[in-house]
Amino acid sequence: VAALYDLLVIGGGINGTGIARDAAGRGLSVLLAEQDDLGGATSSASTKLIHGGLRYLETFQFRLVREALKERTLLLRVAPHLVSPLRFVLPHEPHLRPAWLLRLGLFLYDRLGGRGPLPPSRPIDLAQDAAGAPLRPGLARGFAYADCWVDDARLVVMNAISAREKGATILTRCRFESAVRDGALWRAVLQDANGERRVDARALVLAAGPSIRRVQGHVSIARPAGRVRLVKGSHIVVARLFAHDSAYIFQNRDGRVVFAIPYERDFTLIGTTDEPVADERAPAISTTETDYLCAAASAYFRQPVSAADVVWTYAGVRPLWDDGSKDAKSVTRDYVLELDAEGGAPCLSIYGGKITTYRRLALAALDRLKRFLPQMGAEWTQDEPLPGGDAGPFDDFVKRMQQRHDGLDPGWIAAAARRHGTRLHRLLEAGPPGRDFGGGLFEGEARWMRREEWARTAEDILWRRTKSGLHMTAAQREAFAAWMAEG
Ligand SMILES: Cc1cc2nc3c(=O)[nH]c(=O)nc-3n(C[C@H](O)[C@H](O)[C@H](O)COP(=O)(O)OP(=O)(O)OC[C@H]3O[C@@H](n4cnc5c(N)ncnc54)[C@H](O)[C@@H]3O)c2cc1C
Repeated sequence: VAALYDLLVIGGGINGTGIARDAAGRGLSVLLAEQDDLGGATSSASTKLIHGGLRYLETFQFRLVREALKERTLLLRVAPHLVSPLRFVLPHEPHLRPAWLLRLGLFLYDRLGGRGPLPPSRPIDLAQDAAGAPLRPGLARGFAYADCWVDDARLVVMNAISAREKGATILTRCRFESAVRDGALWRAVLQDANGERRVDARALVLAAGPSIRRVQGHVSIARPAGRVRLVKGSHIVVARLFAHDSAYIFQNRDGRVVFAIPYERDFTLIGTTDEPVADERAPAISTTETDYLCAAASAYFRQPVSAADVVWTYAGVRPLWDDGSKDAKSVTRDYVLELDAEGGAPCLSIYGGKITTYRRLALAALDRLKRFLPQMGAEWTQDEPLPGGDAGPFDDFVKRMQQRHDGLDPGWIAAAARRHGTRLHRLLEAGPPGRDFGGGLFEGEARWMRREEWARTAEDILWRRTKSGLHMTAAQREAFAAWMAEG
């Protein structure tokens, strides 16, 4: 007989894991099926900002910006290891947006989310501010404002861990094949390396990100009304272009903005693009996108950036709700939920959304399902820290850990504390660091990720749960892959 769950969630990106966590914490029995690795699609390929989206003010998306800014404050509180404040510098270019418009935008941005812990925006003199030094001459004025940085892939993993601890079953490398409505139940078929698995569920959530259309095609629902726009966004990573720890938001001539962000200590992350695509699978950066990002950065930095400087790239596909906008950059980044409950068990499809608003999206999803699953408990995710997030002031926690483990490299402790928060205690208790694979990766942490965090392949660890791959030589990466393959 097939196992019966209250909720079957398809997709282990930020939205699927966020919904699974919320639902499990309300006492529902939950199964999540992810065909690949957690966060392996869009949710590890973002610009990694927890932000209101200053740019969305131009398209009057006030609701989205307000909600996102409020979430920013909340996420800083519940996940201080994964989310941290980041100062942004916006150089003013008189022939692009006028200063009054930037001032107005920042005025709204400071106020829309209510008073939070971050400093307000202010005008800056680029001749005086450290952030002016790496920029080309002629940029005299600018603005500084605060937003936040997030480790997107780890935010997904921590939501999955929390979901599991609340009783959810999380299956990775397990593909959803189909679901048929049978009165008040969904009868679903999943497929993993061991073969076919049949499960029943009272409600179905399709959180398949950009693959939503493909998945809907295998579910017996009425033709979904929602239209999806698939818009690829790519990033390049180059050796560090500046020594300070602020990020830049550059205005491009086409009306878009491009970020240049300090990344992994030794690098600068530059992104992103907006390129409509027809197929969401295996996105990769194109030469045109690389050239576009290099040109955008070179228009601002003294030191020009060229394709030859690029050490790593990644691309993701936004599953945007099609609001009929003409160009990709203007399509709303807000989320839309579509419920199909014709003749019985409900199926909820998720479109769009931001990493920033995933928790709100989960609340809205459960709200829509409440009448079908009236036994569910009340909202709870606004207060409880994510796993490892109960560290108190984060810098103090890192110092304490470095003092307590003075035999270990303090740089590694600081990085690992960011990845695991207070769960670092458990990781260190589980065994010694063991073999040093290079790039800040040790055997003990890799074993932990395999045992506790669903890591299966070298890529899961080198490029998602850590970014050690970026700091390693090709030979070191191969040696690690060989170790992983040994199991
Ligand atoms: C370039 C770019 C930059 C971005 N920057 C930001 C940012 O700075 N800040 C921000 O807040 N947001 C940002 N976003 C938006 C954010 O990344 C996405 O909205 C979010 O990650 C979408 O999450 P998701 O869970 O819906 O989709 P995904 O992360 O794509 O997850 C869907 C999952 O479903 C799985 N799946 C699909 N089909 C099946 C199946 N048949 N069976 C089982 N599993 C299946 C996939 O493998 C995948 O893991 C950015 C997006 C892009 C593309």
